[in-house]
Amino acid sequence: MINPASRTKLIELSQIRKMFEATKPGAINLGIGEPDFDVPQNIKDAMKKSIDDNDTHYTPNKGYVELREEIVKKFKRDNDIKTTPEDVIVTVGASEALYISAQAFIEAGDEVILPDPSFLLYEACINLAGGTIVPVECKMENEFKLKAEDVENKITPNTKAIMLNSPSNPTGAVMEKEDIKAIADLSMDNDFLIISDEIYEKIIYDKKHYSPARYSDNVITINGFSKTYAMTGLRVGYLTANETNAEELFKVHQNSIACANSTAQKGAYEALTGPQDDVHKMVNEFKRRRDLIVSRLNGMGYETVNAEGAFYVFPKIDDEDFVKKAADAGVVTVNGAAFGSNGKGHVRMSYANSYENIEKAMNILEERVVNG
Ligand code: PMP
Repeated sequence: MINPASRTKLIELSQIRKMFEATKPGAINLGIGEPDFDVPQNIKDAMKKSIDDNDTHYTPNKGYVELREEIVKKFKRDNDIKTTPEDVIVTVGASEALYISAQAFIEAGDEVILPDPSFLLYEACINLAGGTIVPVECKMENEFKLKAEDVENKITPNTKAIMLNSPSNPTGAVMEKEDIKAIADLSMDNDFLIISDEIYEKIIYDKKHYSPARYSDNVITINGFSKTYAMTGLRVGYLTANETNAEELFKVHQNSIACANSTAQKGAYEALTGPQDDVHKMVNEFKRRRDLIVSRLNGMGYETVNAEGAFYVFPKIDDEDFVKKAADAGVVTVNGAAFGSNGKGHVRMSYANSYENIEKAMNILEERVVNG
């Protein structure tokens, strides 16, 4: 056997994926992290055309300039971030953006403040880069919203970066503007980087999304097309940072990825420039499902925050065997502890499944798990 690098030994294969692969046929999957909608037709058509147009060559390393120009406009319009096409990199999903952020800026001796619970990839990216994780609790009493004062308590001279993710996977929490702003101020005062994963930006209910890059120069803003346009398999994301930081990120991107997929980039261009009706329809439908799942779970006695974004709820469920019992009854969920120690005693449920299936799943849980 060839001994793997010590950094590889620090990470594991996703337990969540493993569980899905073991799911029995016919089970209702509330474990998934992707929209159950299809890619809007105009985006499909743009991609078909791109193949006929032979847009199948390498693109500029940072991505097609027309796409980056649209991303610049999007950042200005939606996020009040001023950037230039030179400081935007089109990536292979937000996942690549997270990976290159860690590779470009984090090394042994660096502390990275990580919300607990949070998306699994963050921990893996920090570990692969050799950084030290400093967890900061997202408390249920605060509806899982990360608070600036809790972050402030974790800052040391070794703090290199913080990961932010609002709306959040796995809790659906949307951070308050004052906390975003206060953390942005802390990043300037204490010279650390904010890696802001804003992939669920558009999936938000009756609430406004604020980007920390509005208030601080030390931010890498990450976004993508997977959630907003149901383009998960097409693998397009993007980031922006100030000129100096963007250049460091670009070094890692150019020397590993070369460029994101050309046809998918054409689809992404259409996504940004075409009609947004499908996005609004999708978000309205998610809200209807959120209302259903939150009220059913609370009705069963599982205390559940009325999450303001993404497509997850994070009910308090003390029964350690709940996930197994639910799976045996035909409903797939994910143990909250998979997302960090503060997730213990919770279960993540995704409502990226049809209204009817969510209703059915809730009936199954009520009949066979709660009263079973
Ligand atoms: N960030 C978060 C918080 C996510 O939930 C996901 C997808 N599950 C990603 C990033 C990765 O997105 P992409 O498909 O753009 O790589």
